[in-house]
Parts: sequence; C-alpha cells; structure tokens
Amino acid sequence: MTGVLQVSDLPRAPGVYVFHGEGNLPLYIGKSIDIRSRVQSHLRNPDEVRMLSQTRRIEAIETAGEIGALLLESQMIKTQSPLYNQRLRRVKKLCSLQLIDEPDGSKVSWVDDQTVQPGITPDLFGLFSSRKAAKDKLQSLAQQHRLCLQLLGLEPANQRGCFGWQTKQCAGACTGHESRADHDRRLRDALRDLQVHTWPFAGAVDVVEKRGDWLQKHRIHNWGYAGTWCSKRNDFIDKHLNPTGFDADCYQILLKPVLLQTLEIQSIST
Ligand SMILES: [Zn+2]
Repeated sequence: MTGVLQVSDLPRAPGVYVFHGEGNLPLYIGKSIDIRSRVQSHLRNPDEVRMLSQTRRIEAIETAGEIGALLLESQMIKTQSPLYNQRLRRVKKLCSLQLIDEPDGSKVSWVDDQTVQPGITPDLFGLFSSRKAAKDKLQSLAQQHRLCLQLLGLEPANQRGCFGWQTKQCAGACTGHESRADHDRRLRDALRDLQVHTWPFAGAVDVVEKRGDWLQKHRIHNWGYAGTWCSKRNDFIDKHLNPTGFDADCYQILLKPVLLQTLEIQSIST
C-alpha cells in the first residue's frame, strides 16, 4: 500500500467507505457506524491482503445515521459493482410465493415480478432470485409443516393421496383426514414470517435521520430508494434514482424502521 492511505484522517462516524485501486477503480464498498475502526479492521485482516495490496486510496462518505449508510452502500454497490463485494449484487428477477384464496381453498404459485408487483401485490411471501428457489422453499415448508404436496401444486392429483401422505409427511388434507380449512390455516401460518409487506403509505415518504444539527431525509417510495436530501447541501444527493421501483435491499433495510416507526417519517405532498 502507498503512503496516500491515511487511516487516521478517516472519520469516527457513520457512513460509507470505498477502497479505490489503480485508476480509481472501486475495489470494495462497505458501511459502518464508525468508518475509521471498520477500515482498521480491514487492514488487520490477513484474508484481505490481496485487496489491500491493490488499494491506492480510501474514500469516506459520512452520513447522518446508519440507515443512510446502508441505503448508500447498497445503491453504490449496485451501480459500481466493486471487484471484491460478493453480496448485494443486483438481482435480475425477483420471485415470490403468491397465495390466492379461491372458493375451493388457497392456491400457492411461484411467481416473478413480471406478473406481480412486490410492495403492491398483497399475499406475496419470500424474495427469491429464481422461481425454482421459491418452489424449493415451498417444498421445504411442506415437509416442515406436514402440508399436502397435491394441494400445494407440487404434485399432480392422485386419489390415493400425495406422496407425503404415503410417507407420513402430509397431515392428510388430500385424503380427507384433515379439513381443507385446517390445512389452509396451517399453510398461512407457515408462510407468515416470509410475508412481503405492502408499502403502507399513499405515496413517497421521507425517513429522517439527524446527527447534531445535520439532517438527512431519505426519500422512499414502494420500498425503493429515491435519494437523500442533505441539509449540508440543501439539496438531494443522487436524485436520478427511479423512485417507484421496489428494491429488495431497500426493503430489508427499511422494513423494521418503517413498521416500528423507530425513525421519524414524513409524508410527501406532491
Ligand atoms: Zn397430501
């Protein structure tokens, strides 16, 4: 590493840091609530020797809080694709399980965002990168909760009952040993933790973070990040982002703060 690197100049504050290589190429982008100590731990990590030997400069972008750091990190990784970041790559297709109540019982299907809109379509469960991954999850839930493979559409109808019934892994909704209503109630319970929450506001909101008299407002619409307004600039950082698209990373980052209202949320009048 060269002498250009001055870790002692990095802030002990929340934000995003970037390891830059030759020609300003981004090698790694990370976030922390304490940028300096996080970068120091990279420097002590023997597994990262290769990346560190390529590093020419470390950049720090302070944020007013942790949510701003998470949103910025996720957005920068997607747009800059750093060499050493493994996670948070852009997912091409978002898939889910969809539960639809029909007169003869609940039906589950594995769908993608060509046909449903995460954040808007109700009764979606799980966010997967392929329809196969969604179907595999349903298969494992069926096993765990003794649900019926036939009723879930994982197996063609068969009068002798599903394969699970024959191996005692289905509670018997296919053979009349369990009522359809009981089966469907257990299905909904099994899916509950995977629920993709619909956007609970009429339009865009600002999620507010403060540090001292520094104010940042992260504009979010349908679990998509539309940029951050910063009081230091009295303007937006990155206002070019698509404000209406559902984003799985943004969803994970904001689900708790939005549902539990742990941060101030201001609705936008447009
Ligand atoms: Zn069955």
